[in-house]
Parts: sequence; structure tokens; C-alpha cells
Amino acid sequence: MDNAQGLQVYKFGGASVKDAAAILNLCRIVRNYGSKGPLVIVVSAMGKTTNALEEIFDLAYQKLDYNTQLQALEQYHYQVIAGLQNVPAGIEPAVSFSAEITTYFQQLADRLANLQTGDYDQQYDQIVSFGELLASSIVAQALGAQLLDIRSIIRTDDTWREGRVDWRVTEQRVQAAIMLQLAQGPMVTQGFLGGTVAGATTTLGREGSDYTAAILAYCLRAESVTIWKDVPGLLNADPKIFPDTVRYPEISYRETIEMAYYGASVIHPKTLKPLAERNIPLRVKSFVNPEAEGTLIHDCQHPALAPAYIRKTDQCLVSFASKDFSFISEENLAVIFAALAQAKLKINLMQNSAISFSVCTDFSERRIHALLDLLREQFTLHYNAGLTLFTIKNYDSASISRLTADKRLLLEQRTRNTFQFVCQA
Ligand code: ASP
Ligand code: MG
Repeated sequence: MDNAQGLQVYKFGGASVKDAAAILNLCRIVRNYGSKGPLVIVVSAMGKTTNALEEIFDLAYQKLDYNTQLQALEQYHYQVIAGLQNVPAGIEPAVSFSAEITTYFQQLADRLANLQTGDYDQQYDQIVSFGELLASSIVAQALGAQLLDIRSIIRTDDTWREGRVDWRVTEQRVQAAIMLQLAQGPMVTQGFLGGTVAGATTTLGREGSDYTAAILAYCLRAESVTIWKDVPGLLNADPKIFPDTVRYPEISYRETIEMAYYGASVIHPKTLKPLAERNIPLRVKSFVNPEAEGTLIHDCQHPALAPAYIRKTDQCLVSFASKDFSFISEENLAVIFAALAQAKLKINLMQNSAISFSVCTDFSERRIHALLDLLREQFTLHYNAGLTLFTIKNYDSASISRLTADKRLLLEQRTRNTFQFVCQA
């Protein structure tokens, strides 16, 4: 199949749909896009909705009271709708937004009231997915655009919270369901979600809406993907943390994949591979300043880049020691790796010494305890939470001194291009 003529995928994250003004801005960006070609619009949950749903779910799962939080979330959505209905003439959204939203909140309340004590991650997906369902419904109505339920299109396995895409089925469905419809105007759909063969909802991992945009672009052989952000492009650091950032105007897929892997929050790490595979350029642009150039990520050569500073918070350092002072052998490592995989803990950094082995992973109390349960008999385990992992990509000595100056390093590692360390937050 040829690239669909001029087909574009736009992705709008939580910040770009966080209130009525943001959604109206989205509408302006889409209108200015005009009729350049078919357009698919992927949206995330509004603002911090996913965090709120995670909290509500966690309370409900523990049979604790979640009503205050649920009401606040409902209130927040109704407020945004009210803001949209009160807009100046010319960009009037379609009326009767609220019927669908009310239904979603009823379904959500029902599901929360009837949670089972079974698989936490499976039920998480059924609840947390409401954020995207709500946001996409509101945005589609504000735009007067078609709404597509992505759960019937992106097929995943039942790896809850990290659904793995069945590319063959997904590609067939995308082409059957989207191609024809796109002739009738832009389509809005949910990021972050997928569906199993049995019809259950899955999620693709936190911040996974970028990945959704890439999956669709791949299957549609789109001309390009644009991620609309609250930053002017791909920067060498998070401007909320580092005052003097620089924007990369152009950067290769490979560099970007590495940055995303180390935790640069600008793009979900799984996003780049499908795009690189079909040579689909990715633009990162500012929704505050849509005319500005942004960053173009594609297959290119470029001179050495400014050092990139990447911070991952909420890290945990786990160390495993053999109980009898014997060395950590390959057999021991095999057991440790299997347990980490079973507890769904991803290794962000690891280090081996004579009688102990340490890994730095994202902290999750539930998962760490699962790991302790699995390994307690064989190893002495210690863990230290509340840590931060810093990575400097393309480092030089000035960038290392700058970042390490006032910190106590618990672990450090250096390769030719990358310097990493774990420290107290
Ligand atoms: N709403 C989801 C999250 O916050 C997915 C996304 O934003 O990409 O993780
Ligand atoms: Mg988000």
C-alpha cells in the first residue's frame, strides 16, 4: 500500500486538553490545518485525570472511600464542558455534550462499586481507561468530528497495563475502519487504550498516547505525526527542572529513542520504532505557539548534540546479596532477572559486585513486595526508595560537574556517550 496522500496524525496530550481554553486552542489548530489531507487526532485524558483515576481505583480496590475524589473528577469534566458551551460565536461546539459524559460517569461508578479482589492490573485498565474515553468524547464534540473507539481497532494481548500490540490484526482493522471514514473529515480517537480478543480494555503503559499515534501512523502509512506539547519542541532537558534548555531543531530517530529510553518525558519510548520502521517523520510542536518550528525527528545525520539531562524520579535501588557470602553467580542472576520480570519491575540501571547485585527500578510498593516475596528465601534484599536517576547523554566534564556538584551519589556508571547516577532525591 502507498502512503495515504498527505495523511497526518496529530496527538494532543493531557496538558493540551486540560480545560475549555485548551480544547478551543486545539480546535483552532485543527481548523488552521484546513484540508491538507486526511487527519486522525489522538487525545489523552484531560490534565491530571489519569493520576486521579489511579488514585480512585487504588482506594476502591482497597475498599476505601473514593467518593470525594470521584466527585471532584466529575465536577472537573462538567466544568470543562460548561466552558466549551459558553464560547464566542463561530467556534460553537455541538450541544448536548453532557449526555455521553454522564453515561461514562455512571459506568465508572458502577464498575468501581463492583471491583473484585482479583487481578489488580486487569481491573486497573478497566477503570483508568475512562480518562481517554471522556476526553475523546468531549474533543470530538467540540470539533464536530467523528469519534472512533480505538479499543476495537488496536488489538493487544492481555498484558494488563502494558498491552502488547498484535500488529497484524491491528493493521487490518485500522485500514478497514479508518481509511474510508477519513474521507468524511477528521477523526478523533483515544490514546493509551487497546482491546483484547475477548473485548476487555487494555492500556499501553503510562503516557502511552504517543505510542497510539505511532501505531496508527504506521498502520496508515501516514505522511507524518505531530505531537503537540506545552514545550517548544524536543529540548535537552525538562525546562521545569533546568533553567537554560536548548531545543534540538532536528534529531535522528536513534538519538531520540535513546533519550526516551533513559526517561526523557517528552516522548513515550515505544513511539519511535514503528515510525522509524516506515520512515515516518515525527514533529514535536508547541500548542501555545503552533507556528514555531518545533523539532523534526527523522532519519538524518547531525553534528554532535548538546548534552541532554534526563531525570527519573521515584526510583528505588534494590540490592541482592547471597545469604552465605558466596559470589553472585550467573545462576543467581538468572533467578533475580526472572523474579524482576515476574514482579513487572523494569531495570533502569544495574551493577554487579562480588557478593551483591543492585538494580535501580521505578518504585512501586506493590511490585517491590512481590519481588521480596519471590526472593526472600534465597537472598538478603535491601531496598532504598525515594531516589532519583540522572542520565547525561552526550556528556562532557562540565555537564557532569554541573549536575553532580551538590549531590550524594549512591551508584554511578559511565559509557562512551552516557553518564548515569542514582542519588537521594
Ligand atoms: N493519560 C495517560 C497517562 O497520563 C496516557 C497519556 O497521557 O499518554 O499516562
Ligand atoms: Mg498524560
